Amino acid sequence: MIEMQEVSKTYPNGVNALSGINIHIEQGEFVYVVGTSGAGKSTFIKMMYREVRPSEGTISVNGINLSKLRLNKVPLLRRNIGVVFQDFKLLQNLSVYENVAFAMEVIEEQPAVIKRRVMETLELVGLKHKARMLPTELSGGEQQRVSIARSIVNAPKVVIADEPTGNLDPETSWEIMNIFEEINLRGTTIVMATHNKEIVNTIKHRVIAIEGGKIVRDEAKGEYGYES
Ligand code: ADP
Ligand code: ADP
Repeated sequence: MIEMQEVSKTYPNGVNALSGINIHIEQGEFVYVVGTSGAGKSTFIKMMYREVRPSEGTISVNGINLSKLRLNKVPLLRRNIGVVFQDFKLLQNLSVYENVAFAMEVIEEQPAVIKRRVMETLELVGLKHKARMLPTELSGGEQQRVSIARSIVNAPKVVIADEPTGNLDPETSWEIMNIFEEINLRGTTIVMATHNKEIVNTIKHRVIAIEGGKIVRDEAKGEYGYES
């Protein structure tokens, strides 16, 4: 479902962030992406939702070849890929409900469908009772729940998460991981960049390690593999 062939990325400033990347991720897999800071993890996952375009090679997601994807088809891709960020990226002047509904409005879903799906999704992340609140009225963990709800409300086949627990305390991080586990159990592919050693070594999944822009390790039920 996610495939990269001989992918490399050199940024306009000349930094060679990735080279010779070949991967194949099946529908329903849960994959951790680990590596030291500057290794190329963010570049790697940003290419999956076309935030970054490769300098060389081909990438396909759900059978859509991203290099050939026309700009007017990017919304179609985004509908099939949910994205969760370390810093949540919620719209501060919109309520919890509106932040989640927004992701459905941009794809012009019907109002009745939006209302039902948003409430179902908020229930799944345990925030139905805070639907009317603003992001500033929520804890970090709650804000990340909203962001997860936004990422899955259109029922994407894959969710990409860039250090989703990076700003959260350990207990809250485990709660957020439980939600990702639940989403994965429902069949959604998860690709998550993380520095959380405890989580990677406890909730075992495939581990792809990147160093110096190359994949140096790719193991089923792997270990974090770094000291911290
Ligand atoms: P990681 O997520 O593992 O910390 P990144 O993918 O963010 O790694 O970065 C890999 C390399 O690419 C680093 O040397 C970083 O400085 C560089 N880099 C990342 N984004 C850009 C950019 N937009 N322009 C130029 N260089 C970048
Ligand atoms: P842009 O891509 O120009 O930032 P969009 O209209 O695509 O604007 O997105 C608006 C908001 O929705 C942004 O806060 C963005 O982070 C969020 N967003 C867009 N697509 C997704 C997605 N697939 N999953 C999660 N959040 C998304």
